[in-house]
Amino acid sequence: MTTEQDVAQIVRKQRSFFDSHGTQSYEFRLQSLKKLRDGLKRYEDALHSALKRDLGKPEFEAYLTETGFNVHELTFTMKRLKRWMKPRRVRTPLLVQPAASRIHYSPLGVTLIIGAYNYPLGTTLLPLISAMAAGNTAIIKPSELTPASSQMLRQMIEELFRSDYLACVTGGVEETTALLRQKTDHILFTGSARVGSIVMKAAAEHLTPVTLELGGKSPCIVHEDAKLDVAVKRIASGKFLNAGQTCVAPDYVLVHRAVKEEFLEKLKQHVLKTYGQDASESPDFCRIVNDRHFRRIVSLIDRSRVVVGGQSDAATRYIAPTIMRDVTLDDPIMTEEVFGPVLPVMEYSNVRDIYRVVSALPHHPLACYIFSESKSAQKELVRTIQFGGGCINHCMQHLGNPNLPFGGVGQSGFGCYRGFSGFERLSHRKSVLKAASWIDPSLVYPPYRGKLNALRKMLK
Ligand code: NAD
Repeated sequence: MTTEQDVAQIVRKQRSFFDSHGTQSYEFRLQSLKKLRDGLKRYEDALHSALKRDLGKPEFEAYLTETGFNVHELTFTMKRLKRWMKPRRVRTPLLVQPAASRIHYSPLGVTLIIGAYNYPLGTTLLPLISAMAAGNTAIIKPSELTPASSQMLRQMIEELFRSDYLACVTGGVEETTALLRQKTDHILFTGSARVGSIVMKAAAEHLTPVTLELGGKSPCIVHEDAKLDVAVKRIASGKFLNAGQTCVAPDYVLVHRAVKEEFLEKLKQHVLKTYGQDASESPDFCRIVNDRHFRRIVSLIDRSRVVVGGQSDAATRYIAPTIMRDVTLDDPIMTEEVFGPVLPVMEYSNVRDIYRVVSALPHHPLACYIFSESKSAQKELVRTIQFGGGCINHCMQHLGNPNLPFGGVGQSGFGCYRGFSGFERLSHRKSVLKAASWIDPSLVYPPYRGKLNALRKMLK
């Protein structure tokens, strides 16, 4: 149990270490990132076992989305860190010439990273890599719903780093509340909109900037000209990865009426082929994190609309990969983020139907997936639908590219991280204009008489 006093002490010590400039140098940052990468490799088996215990995660998925994913982000960051840290030169307008202008990336201080349960490593270590690259100290707080993974993360961080640089606090609401009472310099929160609002209120007390990585209902649009064989494979793998407990999973499908039946049949056959008649026997399928979420997801299934799946087992928190057809906006499944292996399918006839559905839902989607061979349809939908990020003709692959900023819009959150955008998000962009002293133009000094016309020319 971590008490309020413990938490206050960690923050105090981290601030003192930060103020000693211990985290600033390129060498320190690089060595620390390397240490984390080595640690992740060493702890790989233990972390995979923990993820298996918490979520029934297959080893392949654990490596793809958690350990290997973070190792790749570390390598990507280490290779580019020197370049990212260099001050960036920008142009200087005539009025303030002669001078040189640069943006210096300076660290923020003590950062607090609060993670969600679905990717215990991804939602804590991925932002941590940005925080470390930017030269901050950090406290990570993984979810209490995945106790084995959180405990293993804590063990790894405590073994690798001094706590006045990086610390891991485990626990639930009480510990997070204690952390939020402290003054930190940036809070990066991943989780639900409800808790995101609690985090923002707490941050406001200290005027601490926040990044909120939230969820929402992410649409997947299947146009009449989409290549259906490819689409069903990609949609199913995106939806059923981690048993649907992925923030950027396709939440629901909007399929064009002309191809709806063919799409549903192909999707059904693909699900049966991939996971078998009884997906509980499949070694490639996860379980739901706890009983509360299990009951919540099961209650969203309308048996009269099930195309495939629908089975569940409370004892093992198993819910079969499930497709529901002819869903409407009034169905309970369309009133909240599904966050489970149930895929509602709705039909549309024209683009206006798509806008009607997307805009009827209370949240801007975190992701959007567009399956179409038509360049104009792709362009039009990307331009007109507001979403955090997404793919054309694939699902969730945008997360595989650290060059793409990752973050939401509106109710799905704000502020991006990953790669350079994470480094930038957790740095302060300090603007510095270095003026020449060998000459001293007197245009802007009093007396002003006779200078206005020259000023007008420069400021037009
Ligand atoms: P959650 O909001 O319940 O919990 C997130 C964190 O907040 C946990 O560490 C938890 O301990 C803490 N917390 C919970 N209640 C709190 C309270 N009252 N006060 C202070 N702290 C509290 O979220 P979750 O159930 O773990 O995750 C699911 C949600 O996260 C989904 O909506 C999903 O879409 C979203 N998510 C978003 C991303 C992203 O990158 N955008 C990634 C993963 C998950």
